[in-house]
Amino acid sequence: MSDITLTDDLIRVLIDEETIQARVVELAQQINRDYAHLDSTLILVGVLKGSFIFLADLVRHLEVDHVVDFIALSSYDGGQSGNVRLLMDTRENMEDKHVLIVEDILDSGNTLDYLMRNFRTRGPKSVRTAVLLDKPDRHILPIDIAYLGFTIPDVWVVGYGLDYNEKYRTLPYIAEMKPQG
Ligand code: 5GP
Ligand code: MG
Repeated sequence: MSDITLTDDLIRVLIDEETIQARVVELAQQINRDYAHLDSTLILVGVLKGSFIFLADLVRHLEVDHVVDFIALSSYDGGQSGNVRLLMDTRENMEDKHVLIVEDILDSGNTLDYLMRNFRTRGPKSVRTAVLLDKPDRHILPIDIAYLGFTIPDVWVVGYGLDYNEKYRTLPYIAEMKPQG
């Protein structure tokens, strides 16, 4: 990927396309093994918008019986996500189903903590998380990640679903952004 030209906002490619794709295949294989003897459908819940590319790549390597659903959330204080609000709920009934939340990045943990607690009230057989990126330095709440792509430092990243004010979301790689003043 030596032909990538970064714009002024982007410092470096943190994870290149080939590395992401290889890791996504590994995660799908783990999921295939773990859910191989499912007694009910697996519901994958993508957290919009950031997870949509990760989810789309992941499901194309899944061999277990599954359906795809989405949820949209917002945090009303900008950077920190202490206050999570539901914008669009899932459509599938989770009762007696296995649920796998698919999230782009784990930062403070507020989003996944909210989702795990919310979904557990809906009577699922299990609730687990698949997270592409983890920033351990930022955790406030402990979150159990069943399937993790990559651990990254405390920097703002964009690409592969992740944005900065809706920019850079569809880059095929993950890049580190220059801190914005
Ligand atoms: P948490 O609730 O764990 O604090 O935050 C998770 C959410 O914050 C992610 O789903 C994502 O929307 C956003 N976020 C955290 N760090 C980054 C980052 O480096 N880049 C982007 N684009 N979003 C981030
Ligand atoms: Mg997100």
